[in-house]
Amino acid sequence: MQLSALFFFVDGLGMGRDDPALNPLFRGDCPTLARWLREEAVPLDATLDTPGLPQSATGQTSLFTGINGAKAHGGHKEGYPGPALREVIEKQNLFDLVQARGGACAFANAYYLEGLSPAELRRRRSVTTVITLKALGGVRGLPELERGDAVYNDLVRRRLNERGYPTPLISPEEAGRHLISIAEQYSLTLFEYFQTDTTAHKGSPENTARVLRELDAALVVAARFAEKENRLFLVCSDHGNIEDASTRTHTRNPVPLIAFGAGADVLRAKARSLLDVTPLLVSLYEN
Ligand SMILES: [Zn+2]
Repeated sequence: MQLSALFFFVDGLGMGRDDPALNPLFRGDCPTLARWLREEAVPLDATLDTPGLPQSATGQTSLFTGINGAKAHGGHKEGYPGPALREVIEKQNLFDLVQARGGACAFANAYYLEGLSPAELRRRRSVTTVITLKALGGVRGLPELERGDAVYNDLVRRRLNERGYPTPLISPEEAGRHLISIAEQYSLTLFEYFQTDTTAHKGSPENTARVLRELDAALVVAARFAEKENRLFLVCSDHGNIEDASTRTHTRNPVPLIAFGAGADVLRAKARSLLDVTPLLVSLYEN
């Protein structure tokens, strides 16, 4: 039986000091994630052998392709990938590599594109969007979201309401259950959560606490995915941010690799940087 993995990507989650005065992750809002960070996480170098602060476009390219995005771009690149990074991503990425080994892949995030111009849509293609369009041909939207076959990027759908789409909020636990039911149908399911990064840039302790409570509740449920045979649950990030309340910028801290279930021992034993995650994860799928 082939591996089935649920990859819960958390943007801007670094491993910082175990000091609640400095690190919001240790203030009691996310007890399970805090325990994983203390007891389970393997630190991965996120600097990409490049000076300056690691950024999303280059970090995510490196994480999801195994190719050093900062070297390809000539420095760390924030936000959305430009042409050089898109070329890297389209040449080799996690979904294409798993599909080449006979596995079916899913990107669980639901997109809400209302009100965005075609130019904005082209510009605002994240690394995961580029990968998904290339490897899977399209992204999930509101119909999938409404039948529990996709998850909004903030888990609870609050941002959808703020953007003008009327929908009842769901609990983060329910979002976690939706992720499991999607992941059960695929060899590899990826979900991208980035409220950790956006809230840390804004620096509001109240919002950060709420985001961490919601994230923790979803992670607790989603991690149960790994309780059955041949299942892997994986959490990783692209760069630090939320773990250091003394700054609103990204950090050069390592990011955690948290893995439970089938193949977790291989990942934990061998992964040392962002660049190792995709090759090691792909190696777990039979050829
Ligand atoms: Zn990021």
